[in-house]
Amino acid sequence: MKISALFTCSLLPFCLNAHLNELYEEAKPLAKSELHLHIGGSWPLNYLEKIAEPDQFLDLCHMLKKIQNREASYHEAFRAFTLVEKIVDSEEKVEKGVVALCEDLIQDNVVYAEFRTGIKDLGSGLEEYLQAVLKGIQKGTKDSSLQVGLVLSLRRNSSSFIAAETLRLTLKYRDQGIVGLDLSGDSTLGEGENIFPVFLKAKEQNFPITLHIGESPKEKAEQQILELTTLHPERIGHGVHLCDEAKQWIKDKQIPVELCLTSAIQAAMILNENEHPALQLLMNGHPVAICTDDPLIFNTNLSTEYARVASVTGLSVEELHRAQDMLLQHRFSKIGLTIESP
Ligand SMILES: [Zn+2]
Repeated sequence: MKISALFTCSLLPFCLNAHLNELYEEAKPLAKSELHLHIGGSWPLNYLEKIAEPDQFLDLCHMLKKIQNREASYHEAFRAFTLVEKIVDSEEKVEKGVVALCEDLIQDNVVYAEFRTGIKDLGSGLEEYLQAVLKGIQKGTKDSSLQVGLVLSLRRNSSSFIAAETLRLTLKYRDQGIVGLDLSGDSTLGEGENIFPVFLKAKEQNFPITLHIGESPKEKAEQQILELTTLHPERIGHGVHLCDEAKQWIKDKQIPVELCLTSAIQAAMILNENEHPALQLLMNGHPVAICTDDPLIFNTNLSTEYARVASVTGLSVEELHRAQDMLLQHRFSKIGLTIESP
């Protein structure tokens, strides 16, 4: 038996209860858009099994199980990414993994996606890594209904060198699929001021920004306000633990919130689904994008997220889908940039 077969007891859609399963089946055929997905947390599990050493794969499965059983803390959950990085350790594996990821999304009827990744050196250089991702996107979307834009991520504690290289490569590959920048990583590590200038320079060049914020109750209110008012993000990710001033800022400016419900539960941002503040925003007509964050890590896909959001809000899948269509204008590939093949 394959190791992943031991793991499938919780894999989609088999573990959804009857009601969620019905909603899932309604959501699956709809043409959907994914605005918040990190490729490092989204490689298909069967792809990883093919390329990993057995013990690496077993370690990963144990960690994923822990996360899915809600036994891992927010900080611990980040360790899963390290295990994945040890498996996907060459440009070739990255390129093939991106193709496999595109295939998964096409299966789920996703027609537009923004993939996020930080640049990294897997042995041949940062630019080679980026080229592998772009080639994977080109191959994975060829002759399909799926369109993918790439968003480059910087962490609050990224080095000045990585920040400068991210900006250089963003500008160099602007016509080859890069559509925006993302501030991500453990939101309690690093204050980000070193990398703010990179975001501001990218903004001057018409690149929209999305900001991971409100992931931990330990985030300081002053830091949240500083980031929002300095970076003026076009969208924010999560927004679970925002101070009152930040909440008001987002409401006043109608900043779309990327809602990753399963992620928020499994990364222990909240204990119960109905505590997610973006659900209330969604019910009140605020732009809220339903997203997965990391389908591998949180054992989800976009149709499942639709089903979960419909179940907890009482909105129909059709109503949710109409609300998602209203977010078209907030896609990064529509904001001043065009995508051509690399
Ligand atoms: Zn994220």
